[in-house]
Amino acid sequence: MSAGVGRVTLVGGGPGAEHLMTVGALRALADADVVLYDRLAPHERLAELAPRATLINVGKLPGHHPISQRGIELLMVDHARAGAHVVRLKGGDPYVFGRGSEEVIACREAGIPVEVIPGVTSAISVPASAGIPLTHRGVSRLFTVVSGHAPLSEEELEHLAGLGGTLVVLMGVSSLPHLAAGLQRHGAAGDLPVAIIERGYSRQQKTTVSSLADVVTDATLAGVSAPAVLVVGEVVRLAHAGAQDAAEVMRSAELLVENA
Ligand code: SAH
Repeated sequence: MSAGVGRVTLVGGGPGAEHLMTVGALRALADADVVLYDRLAPHERLAELAPRATLINVGKLPGHHPISQRGIELLMVDHARAGAHVVRLKGGDPYVFGRGSEEVIACREAGIPVEVIPGVTSAISVPASAGIPLTHRGVSRLFTVVSGHAPLSEEELEHLAGLGGTLVVLMGVSSLPHLAAGLQRHGAAGDLPVAIIERGYSRQQKTTVSSLADVVTDATLAGVSAPAVLVVGEVVRLAHAGAQDAAEVMRSAELLVENA
């Protein structure tokens, strides 16, 4: 730990698999004095990746907040003020629903130098882990990533239903009934495919495939729970070899386009 003011590095840790952490993330960890990590950030081998660091779990369980956002920001700033290189390790990318920009602002306001290292976002990688591409020539030329943390407004649902392409929803398990009903109310087809990928890149990874009309029932039957990424769109039909689990679920649901 050096004398004088330290610094903060906000690090995107990717979707949970160590091989999807960036070289920049690993370098920052190797140099860290303090690591503040989240539940969704890869943390199994942190003691080896950040050998000099004090490791602090600031992870939040759904509906349960061990340390408030403000508390995390204060911890970060206090350690940096004491001269530490603080790594704030977050799941996915720090700027995708990760409150990363709030933490950057907190550092700037405190006069602490801060750097952001982007990460592989779950919005793209978790669908990929189930073999689902977000774009495909002739099928989808756009994808929209939304937070399902709070229910979408009627206006948002209307625009999303009209936009087409691929819709990716993070934090969307509990608002899924609202989303599925809302999109259909605004004209989305009931047979539009939906995939729900739970716990991507973990041993408990599970993919459920359904349609907009049936997804609420199917998700209940499958006991779907957070964290999960939802994908709504025709690209779900393209899930293919290389991601055995998605391909198998889809084959049994007769949704799979072979050799697509
Ligand atoms: N900054 C993160 C997202 C934070 S919001 C990122 O870029 O990935 C947290 C949500 O991300 C979860 O509720 C879930 O929807 C999604 N998520 C993150 N990691 C995941 C994983 N390994 N498997 C499934 N969903 C994941």
